[in-house]
Amino acid sequence: MIRFRTPLTLASASLAAGLLLSSCETKPATTSENPTAAAVPTDSAASTAAPAAPIDATAKAPSPSEIPAAQRADAAAILARPQVPILCYHQIRDWRAKDSKGAKDYIVPVAQFKAQMKMLADSGYHTILPDQLYAYLTTGAKLPSKPIMLTFDDTDLDQFTVARPTLEQYGYKAVYFVMTVSLGRPNYMSKAQVKQLSDEGNVIGSHTWDHHNVKKYEGQDWVTQIEKPTKTLEEITGKKINYFAFPFGLWRPESIPELKKRGMDAAFILAEKRDQQDPLYTIRRIIASGYWSPRTLHNSIVQSF
Ligand SMILES: [Zn+2]
Repeated sequence: MIRFRTPLTLASASLAAGLLLSSCETKPATTSENPTAAAVPTDSAASTAAPAAPIDATAKAPSPSEIPAAQRADAAAILARPQVPILCYHQIRDWRAKDSKGAKDYIVPVAQFKAQMKMLADSGYHTILPDQLYAYLTTGAKLPSKPIMLTFDDTDLDQFTVARPTLEQYGYKAVYFVMTVSLGRPNYMSKAQVKQLSDEGNVIGSHTWDHHNVKKYEGQDWVTQIEKPTKTLEEITGKKINYFAFPFGLWRPESIPELKKRGMDAAFILAEKRDQQDPLYTIRRIIASGYWSPRTLHNSIVQSF
């Protein structure tokens, strides 16, 4: 199986079908936003929102559509809440001789991945899902202690065969951002596997049709890359798809209203700064590198969020 992890220009030149199965991200940055601001909790949302019973998102959270607009905090209040750490994974497999130095940031060896998950469990982390995060960010809903979100991009098969059973050991759930062009291809998940993940309580998110950069979309691209793939995922899972991850973590303000129009309630970037007007559409994640020991991962979680 040939894996296309080459830079975009090379990949484009070599792929007659316009199929781009490149790595998701540009760099495993762990830059942090202003940690001082993030460390100060605020109740300003609660004081300005309409009176309502506080939402408890420790178990099952309401979907975004079930939260009245009047109860949702404004951007400033959302930005002021402490961020929940979110990890982004791609391939979970042992390194091969031909893997480049850079690619290894996106390829976490099996034993390393298992050690990372064990560290999270031993450290008392509880996984949360996007509805819980949304309720927390918009209403201040209560979360489990030491919340963390695990996300897996690009539909790689080892996310099903390796990550899924490992997460199961710890009662962890995750978000799988699926690029629909790869469904059923060798070394990628099938539709049945995506449905199984969904049925087992994980969340399936949209990650475009073939991983093209959202910053370059115009006209029909929104239909091809967002509308149709999202509908495909809704048909596979039988559930509404509410969440999106930007390929390469790349976005621009103009893309946010386009995502809103197409039913997305939140979107995920990488470690860059969040949008000040629409923080729900620029939720930060860090790439958990294949080079990271459990201790390095722990340090990155603490420093980056
Ligand atoms: Zn990706």
